[in-house]
Amino acid sequence: MICPSLPANAMALYPFMLFKNQQMKADKVIINHEKIHFCQQIELLILPFYLLYLLNYLVNLIRFKNHDQAYFNLCFEKEAYANDKNAHYIKGRPLYSWLKHL
Ligand SMILES: [Zn+2]
Repeated sequence: MICPSLPANAMALYPFMLFKNQQMKADKVIINHEKIHFCQQIELLILPFYLLYLLNYLVNLIRFKNHDQAYFNLCFEKEAYANDKNAHYIKGRPLYSWLKHL
């Protein structure tokens, strides 16, 4: 789904993937990144994922006092960014792998 007003290049809202533009929608690394978020969302039964994501963000924001640092230090983003270039990552991914990035 293309969504030009999206505040990010892409976003995973299971079962939907939103992209800022066609170029992002065609980017295999971005798609893999969002698929990793799908895995995280499914294993946390969707809603708790968003609560934990927000909680982790707020804790990081207090800790770093900076949006970018708060975002890039989210355990969910750390797992996704560390593995989004590996096209085979999802197949062998153990459940709750984001815990290793807390
Ligand atoms: Zn992400």
